[in-house]
Amino acid sequence: MNIKNVSLAIVAVCAAVLHVSADDASLQKFELDQAKYVPFDAATTVTLECPDAAAANWLRTHCAEWYGEQSPKVKAGATGLQPGKGAEGYAAVVDEAGVKIAANTLAGVRWASYTLRQLAIAKRGTFKTEGRIMPKLRITDAPHLAFRAIHLCWFPEVRPQQMERAIRLAALLKFNYAIIEPWGMYESKKHPWWHWPNPTMTQAEVKRLVAVGKDLGITLIPQINCYGHASSARGCTIKHAMLDIAPEYEPLFEPGGWNWCLSNPETQRVLRELIAEMHENFGKPPFFHLGCDEAVKQTCPECVKTPNAELVCRHISGLADFVKSLGARPMIWHDMLLARGDPRWKGFVHCGDKETATLADTLPKDVIICDWQYSYGDMKEARKDWPTIKYFAEKGFPVAGCPWRNFNAMKPMADYIVKIGGFGFVETTWHHLRGRTWEQMYMSSSQAAWGSSVSHGVSFQRSLRLVGHDMKVTDYLDTGYYNYQVPPGWWVDNN
Ligand SMILES: [Zn+2]
Repeated sequence: MNIKNVSLAIVAVCAAVLHVSADDASLQKFELDQAKYVPFDAATTVTLECPDAAAANWLRTHCAEWYGEQSPKVKAGATGLQPGKGAEGYAAVVDEAGVKIAANTLAGVRWASYTLRQLAIAKRGTFKTEGRIMPKLRITDAPHLAFRAIHLCWFPEVRPQQMERAIRLAALLKFNYAIIEPWGMYESKKHPWWHWPNPTMTQAEVKRLVAVGKDLGITLIPQINCYGHASSARGCTIKHAMLDIAPEYEPLFEPGGWNWCLSNPETQRVLRELIAEMHENFGKPPFFHLGCDEAVKQTCPECVKTPNAELVCRHISGLADFVKSLGARPMIWHDMLLARGDPRWKGFVHCGDKETATLADTLPKDVIICDWQYSYGDMKEARKDWPTIKYFAEKGFPVAGCPWRNFNAMKPMADYIVKIGGFGFVETTWHHLRGRTWEQMYMSSSQAAWGSSVSHGVSFQRSLRLVGHDMKVTDYLDTGYYNYQVPPGWWVDNN
């Protein structure tokens, strides 16, 4: 089978992971023969070659978890394989002689094992699973981008189980970071007024998910909206997680509550305390997202005394410095740094004004700019040039490209980031972590971040089900990509 046929076979059969890059064959090679399956069971030996002594144990433990009594044996040893390039590169071979995996780090071992896991199916012809089989294959693989994140929203309406499924699934599809935006659901002990009643994003749950992520190879990054979006609720709902229930905190916000009041020194104190608390609770990750999208102009009588750009710059720079003092790198959304009406950004997301646009010159250059471009009005576009990303890169910022549902744009965007030596890729999901859109967001962005020029090839359905098995789900609501097959209200008698 040639590579083209293999690609088609993968798409057709559901199977695996596979990243074939025509652009750089030295990084990614993939040969898989769907016609030739070999046993993958307790009689199989996986030979693992990895400089990290902990890798064999990690693989052994997880094989036992995933395959139970039919788990293959794992032994450390020479494979003669050359892993894909970089820290996360790996190579794998499956044939009649068994399985060989070579990787440069434990991260590479994880990705290799996820590739194989997605390909293994139950042995045919029995009542219950009595071992597995896997197609013969030979893979050399490495990611396109070192920073590959998924951005997840912990809405009050989202079950915590769904958040865990989303995190685990992101790891299985080889994202290495998940940015978690709490939407009023984070249980701050320091400032309990900052969340809705009965938040499900408890500190214990965060700690548990951070540990789950760490084991699976995905680092959780906390987010706080430190400028606009201060309500911790979607603007179209006019809800406010704080002021609707605890009006005494009004001085911390601009009239209306969408922005924090930036001239109030208490705002900076509160935000720093929240940042410190979350950063600690998240296990001191290397990044912290400060939000900062879709803000409006400051309006309170104290804030208007200072030129807006100066006030905003002081506020964000102060928080960025604080994040750095905790040993993390600050990230912000880009849109306030581009002025509305500037012809250069026609067709691109830009929500600032002439004043806030000066932040592109005044903010510290080590703040990571997350440039969210959603191809509004043309979800089919697949442009090759990204002027806003280029702009921030030329200003000296590390810049991450952030798509959403503009699936066709994802691969060209990731390619562009690679081309200009940009920082990384963040797939945003917002309130669409459900249904076919969830599938398209995860699959297309994973494919883009890994650099495949053909279909990613993983079966989303199978991957999601594997995640459910790992979580030992038993609740109907935690299966599939919708909670319900039919809206429950349909069965209510409305007479
Ligand atoms: Zn103010």
